[in-house]
Amino acid sequence: MPIRVLPPATAARIAAGEVIERPASVVKELVENALDAGASAVAVETRHGGLASIRVTDDGCGVPAEEAELAFRRHSTSKLQSEDDLARIATLGFRGEALASIAAAATVRMTTRTPDAESATAIELQGGEVVRRVETGAAPGTSIEVEALFSSIPARLKFIRSAAAETSRIRQTMESLALANPHVRMTLKADGKTQLTTSGNGSLRDAASAALGAELADAMLDVASWAGPYPVWGLAAPPERSRSSRTGVSLFVNGRSVQHRAIAVAVEDAYRGLLMEGRFPIAVIFLDVPPGEVDVNVHPNKREVRLARESDAFSSVQQAVRSAVFPAAPVLDADRLLAPDAGAGAPIPGGAENAFPASEDAPPGGFRFTRDSGPLPEPAPAADAPSPQLDGASPLSRLRILGQVSGAYVVAEGPDGMYLIDQHAGHESVLYYRLLRQWANREPETQPMLEPLPVRLSPRRMDALAASRETLEGYGLRLEPFGGDSWLVRAVPVMARRVDAAKLLDEILDCLSSGADADGARYAVAASIACHSSVRAGQTLTDQEMAALADALASEANPQRCPHGRPTIVRVSNESIGRQFGRT
Ligand code: ADP
Ligand code: MG
Repeated sequence: MPIRVLPPATAARIAAGEVIERPASVVKELVENALDAGASAVAVETRHGGLASIRVTDDGCGVPAEEAELAFRRHSTSKLQSEDDLARIATLGFRGEALASIAAAATVRMTTRTPDAESATAIELQGGEVVRRVETGAAPGTSIEVEALFSSIPARLKFIRSAAAETSRIRQTMESLALANPHVRMTLKADGKTQLTTSGNGSLRDAASAALGAELADAMLDVASWAGPYPVWGLAAPPERSRSSRTGVSLFVNGRSVQHRAIAVAVEDAYRGLLMEGRFPIAVIFLDVPPGEVDVNVHPNKREVRLARESDAFSSVQQAVRSAVFPAAPVLDADRLLAPDAGAGAPIPGGAENAFPASEDAPPGGFRFTRDSGPLPEPAPAADAPSPQLDGASPLSRLRILGQVSGAYVVAEGPDGMYLIDQHAGHESVLYYRLLRQWANREPETQPMLEPLPVRLSPRRMDALAASRETLEGYGLRLEPFGGDSWLVRAVPVMARRVDAAKLLDEILDCLSSGADADGARYAVAASIACHSSVRAGQTLTDQEMAALADALASEANPQRCPHGRPTIVRVSNESIGRQFGRT
């Protein structure tokens, strides 16, 4: 077939497909236009998942009467005056194709009035052509109504599952627009039912309350940091409020909701060690970068951005979130568990996010516990490296050991209540941070084997070993090739000297061959060594060993959770004990 240029109507429909994937994208584009127009209130109403109709009304600057038709022409925009502007976009829109695309896919009516105009202009378009224009009365601002979306594009309709699913996407779109614009009053009504209302009072927490639920929003911690390369602020849920999927993190770059893998990883990274495996953070994070350092013109829906200094963005976000969530990981309060009306493990209200289970017996996935109880390796406090100290006022540094229960928990008295330490998790946490410091200082405590231990490795494990030998050496685990698939273990970390080295290596390589990145591998290896080297549940500890464990925990900056995210210490306050006995 010969090449020919497509007729404008066909070309317009193809282009519309890129911008307008589904009803939620229409809502997004129209609300973004309202925001660009400086609206202080935006009302959205939809019917039948937006397929029957979508109406977006704002009180923004309006479109001048003589530009009403022009607004619907492809590549017509008031937001770019010259090509240079493309390098510093401060508005949400800039391509001038949303209205044209929507008009190509639906029947559209716009009523608009600038504040100083006498009357409003109403125009109607069908298939992209203006079919009606009248002067009418209306308040300043713009209202756009989209009817019978995609009825002329059956191929697109086929991909739309159900009106209910589209309504929920529209809701998600509005939630993220509401989070990004706490100063704008927003409402969403679907089929006459109110789905979302925000006050527009400027408070992010109030907007989060509307979008995520009041209970979660109240529990979230403030993120605010101007210390890193870029300013970062927002809200982050405390570690005990997490999700089982990666859907909990909303990212905004210069006020625009975006998906960005690296920044999402930075948020997850900030929670490292605080969440159990398979749990993901909930956070609303704003990152501000100079317009010249972000390219927003890389995705048809403007859903992704490219950052010129991605690693600066990463570290800004990671540090900001980390400093917000770390102080919030205090010793877990067990009072709730003792309360008469809440049995142990009573669920905390809050739907998808669950509270941290205070007792968690199952070994975390990915790490197999060996149940042999060897002699206690190294219960002595960390005298090796300077560790960040808790301030002297920390109750953890003043624990008096009372004994051991169930052969697994150390009971102690502190100035403000009774403390229970999970001896395995607690010891594991101490060893884990000790290993990380040794690695960072390049001073592994290593114990040469009296007799090198020969091991044979599968090809997959050999690959894993080849890729991570340096990481292992950073922890004092040295191996040498011994021909073919044989290797010799030459040295092990001092803390693991009484551990079955073959088993330890086996687990480490197993975990490494499951494809962690270099950074992830570094933490995973430390977690494995710490897990194998720490005391088991069921081991009887002497008073000295228990005291050493408590001291070692007290000297760590963040000892409250083990590397798998399980709690190491819980506290039952004196008040709570008193309440149990009817004293307060
Ligand atoms: P873009 O937003 O990329 O400029 P659009 O097709 O979405 O392109 O809109 C075209 C133009 O129409 C905008 O540049 C703006 O001038 C005008 N416009 C659209 N919606 C509104 C609105 N709600 N209020 C005021 N002006 C609007
Ligand atoms: Mg636009």
